[in-house]
Amino acid sequence: MATPIKTDRLSFLEQELKNLEEQGFVWRPRTLQSEQRARAIFDGREVVNLSSNNYLGLTNHPKLREAAKRAIDQFGAGAGAVRPIAGTMTLHRQLEEKLARFKGVEAVLVFQSGFAANLGTIQALVGKGDAIYSEELNHGSIIDGCRLSGAEIIKWPHRNVDALRQLCKESRQKYRRALLVTDAVFSMDGDIAPLKELAEIAEEFNLIFMVDDAHASGVLGRNGRGSVDHFGLHGRVDVQMGTLSKALGAMGGYIAGSKTLIEFLIQKARPWLLSTAHPPAVVAAAIAAVEILESPEGEQLVKKLWENANYFKRELQKLGFNTGASETPITPVIVGSSHLARKLAQRLFEEGVFAQEIVFPMVARDKARVRTIVTAMHSKEDLDFALNAFKKVGKELGLI
Ligand SMILES: *Cc1c(COP(=O)(O)O)cnc(C)c1O
Repeated sequence: MATPIKTDRLSFLEQELKNLEEQGFVWRPRTLQSEQRARAIFDGREVVNLSSNNYLGLTNHPKLREAAKRAIDQFGAGAGAVRPIAGTMTLHRQLEEKLARFKGVEAVLVFQSGFAANLGTIQALVGKGDAIYSEELNHGSIIDGCRLSGAEIIKWPHRNVDALRQLCKESRQKYRRALLVTDAVFSMDGDIAPLKELAEIAEEFNLIFMVDDAHASGVLGRNGRGSVDHFGLHGRVDVQMGTLSKALGAMGGYIAGSKTLIEFLIQKARPWLLSTAHPPAVVAAAIAAVEILESPEGEQLVKKLWENANYFKRELQKLGFNTGASETPITPVIVGSSHLARKLAQRLFEEGVFAQEIVFPMVARDKARVRTIVTAMHSKEDLDFALNAFKKVGKELGLI
């Protein structure tokens, strides 16, 4: 039986939670009771699942399952140490070599998560006396990495290259080093950063250029090689962060770049140095995922993902929903208030569609939305089912 805490030192939390509740900002995560599939069971109900990042369906791919099982039999359940001490296994090295070849870079360092990769890398690269030019809609893990670094954070408005250039003109010379960092695909809006123009600015003002490919890994570029491949910017982006947690169906993040960068991060990236290495099963699954991506099957999966994404987005727009500036498989349906977003998501769920509402602090207070993510696994029937539910509930709530 749980022992109740006898002090009241945390009683202020009740008021804090009440405040969040009143503003519609409380998370009550649904429980997934099946695999992460196109149709999945959440909270006892089978729904068309538009909320996962399982873009290519790899979480359930037989090759990933098999690789994970074999790795457990061969190497055990855990790594048992941090990477720098005794936790670097043959599998970790294999994954890093494979990823480096896949990305066309000299070297790769794998972190326990994309979050850890951003946090550890930004913090290691810049510090006091340096500047970070950070896009305003960057992911929270970038924001936290920037804060931890102690560098001056200069935010530039979303995808506004002219404003960024102006900021660089005004301030760049005041700082020793400077980092330019952006999401490639914005996770809440599904639009793509203008990486070509940003690469030019990085060259003009001598900025270390870092791109977060969390939602671009396995989605953009040839066979899902990412945003640098998509834009043909090979050799012009100093630091590429990617994730193994989303389209790659496993768990983890990585940094791809020069040998020197990786050697430096091994010395300085704190989450990598101080937190235990990935268990063998996860690493083996990630290796299998990269092998699938490289193969014709990977090419087919990425193609199917984009066909589904384009179809679903077009149909949502035809119905009259505000899908913002989305150009990727992430399509938001922007409604404004958090209460309305919750209502929309709730009614959709009752109609058999799970599309998560996204509210502050993930997006601005007045930009609440329901976010849809289609995958390569969705059939046309799944997508049409979801579109019908959107149509019905959208009319009911006066959104269309
Ligand atoms: C999900 C995400 C991350 C974190 O990646 P994980 O591997 O899930 O920790 C980082 N950046 C962006 C833009 C993301 O969407």
